[in-house]
Amino acid sequence: MKHSTVRNSLTNVFPLLINGESKDQDAVSIAQPESARERKLLQELKDSEQRHALTLQVTNDGIWSWDLNADRIDYSDRWKSMVGCTAREIKHNPVEWLVRVHPAEREKLRQKLTACRQGEIDRFEMEYSLLHRDGQYRFMYCKCLAVKDVQGVVKSLIGCQTDITEQKQIKAQLNYVADYDKLTKLPNRQLFIAKLSGISELKQHPNYRFGILCLDLDRFKNVNHHYGHSTGDRLLSKIVDQLKSCLKTQDIIARIGGDEFAILLAGFNRVDYPLEVAALIQQEFSKPIKVAEHAILISISIGIAVPQLVDNRLWENAPNNLVESLQNAEIAMHQAKAQGKSCNRVFESEAYLQHLAKTKSQDDLRQAIEQEQFELHYQPIVKLESRQLVGFEALIRWQHPQRGLILPAEFISLAEETGLITPIGWWVLRSACSQMVLWQQTNLDAKSMFISVNITGKQFSQPYAGDIIAQILSETGLNPSCLKLEITESEIIENIELVLSTVEKLKSLGVQLSMDDFGTGYSSLSYLHCLPVDTLKIDRSFIQGMQSNRSSGITAQCHQLELVKTIIKLAEVFNLDLIAEGIESEAQCATLMELGCQYAQGYLFSKPVSAVIAATLLK
Ligand code: C2E
Ligand code: MG
Ligand code: MG
Repeated sequence: MKHSTVRNSLTNVFPLLINGESKDQDAVSIAQPESARERKLLQELKDSEQRHALTLQVTNDGIWSWDLNADRIDYSDRWKSMVGCTAREIKHNPVEWLVRVHPAEREKLRQKLTACRQGEIDRFEMEYSLLHRDGQYRFMYCKCLAVKDVQGVVKSLIGCQTDITEQKQIKAQLNYVADYDKLTKLPNRQLFIAKLSGISELKQHPNYRFGILCLDLDRFKNVNHHYGHSTGDRLLSKIVDQLKSCLKTQDIIARIGGDEFAILLAGFNRVDYPLEVAALIQQEFSKPIKVAEHAILISISIGIAVPQLVDNRLWENAPNNLVESLQNAEIAMHQAKAQGKSCNRVFESEAYLQHLAKTKSQDDLRQAIEQEQFELHYQPIVKLESRQLVGFEALIRWQHPQRGLILPAEFISLAEETGLITPIGWWVLRSACSQMVLWQQTNLDAKSMFISVNITGKQFSQPYAGDIIAQILSETGLNPSCLKLEITESEIIENIELVLSTVEKLKSLGVQLSMDDFGTGYSSLSYLHCLPVDTLKIDRSFIQGMQSNRSSGITAQCHQLELVKTIIKLAEVFNLDLIAEGIESEAQCATLMELGCQYAQGYLFSKPVSAVIAATLLK
């Protein structure tokens, strides 16, 4: 290399280091060296520059220097060759560098460089991938240093990058050996557990469920013994292929022991899904597997565990839950083996069983809405004296495809908890209103009757509840005065503010309001004056207590009678209609009439009946 080239190259690479001296050197080169001392100095300078140039040539690192004033980067020849370019092909701008950095890392590098330029940091180190001309990315380890002047202003950045692709590959190979099973290429137990621990990073989703299966090949030792280890190995590979065919892409399968596998089922909706997969696997292995000239029948014992991923506690503790579930699945697998092999066993903890039952009911309830499995029964409400029909209470029933008719006590609270009560409740209202209109079209007497519909506090306190009810009335064509909405006293009080605003709207429409199960909740006496209710329904428990009192004469039951009397008085004072619920005997009927109660509902008159039977009662 000629002297001038060496100097240029050094000035380019270390402009600031050199700049300070360069003026003097120029001065030296312009003025002819006269003294022996000057000649000696010049010679030393030449030698030093040559050494630097040679260092640059022999170093395996790519070096760059960024003059911030001129916004010019000088890349060493080695730097350029690291991206497959010749010395002339790379220009003096930062773009040549940044554009080659992998897009995922580019911003980070840019930020670090900016921080260095602005003096926020003095240096940084970073790994990134750099695009080579051959289209492949190479891993680079980069170091950068800010060079400041005497005032502390950053004048330039200098740095180098080392190609660490080979080290990375070796590390990856070592990791692979440590984490994967050589024969089946599946993750081993260690990696499987690590993957479970990282699962909480997965996207949160209310229906995102997990299940863990632990599989053990029954009597696999016999296979090795009988057919030899190489046949055993080939069989294992085939088994893995078959297992994979039963799984989805997001599921993870691992070989956690010689003849043991673990599977993470991830992101399914149906709570039974892990059981379905286990059954599918059993079915898949019901046929012999061909290995060379042999047909080998392999049976599998499967343990299943579903983590206790209950509600929002799920994500707080997901990794522990999953790792614990692997242990539970192994326990269940050993139980399956003890049970006689070739079968599945679910890890059963009390909490899990409860969770399973609840989630199953939720799934069923959702399906019931989709498949319209609900129906309404109607219970007559009569005038006590004449026993004349004055209206019906609509009561929901669930026609479950397997379990038959289910009463509301079994599903209303679950529907409330899950929020499913809203669609169910509006369906009830719409159906009851339509039914009433149908009856009124065929029976004139029905025009003066009402239909009572139960509404939960949750529905009632929904914003726009009043508008929804108004819309249902207008769509079905029911006269609003023929609709009575029943809401229990405790639900009114829990949501009093919201209820009041809906009530106002309903009153303006002319809809009637009933306070259901009166006397069972908090004392709602203080609310009676501010709530425009039309009817009180005395709860069944009072009626039953009152009746037993007459025959047994126990003091507590005497109180019940007194309570009924008080409620009846209260209704008189507030000018409210009164319906006694759950009348089962003539004796109850007589007492209530004596006390001045006007209306009643109960098995004595009729149980809740289907719409068809209700129509005959109307006639
Ligand atoms: P509720 O509104 O107090 O309805 C009266 C309940 O008492 C009905 O039970 C009815 O069958 C029962 N009953 C009536 N007369 C007698 C009797 O003489 N003896 C006895 N032992 N029981 C009698 P059901 O239909 O099982 O409903 C229970 C509760 O479920 C209802 O109590 C109501 O709170 C709720 N419910 C029913 N349908 C709906 C609905 O469509 N929406 C909402 N939100 N809740 C509903
Ligand atoms: Mg009711
Ligand atoms: Mg009631």
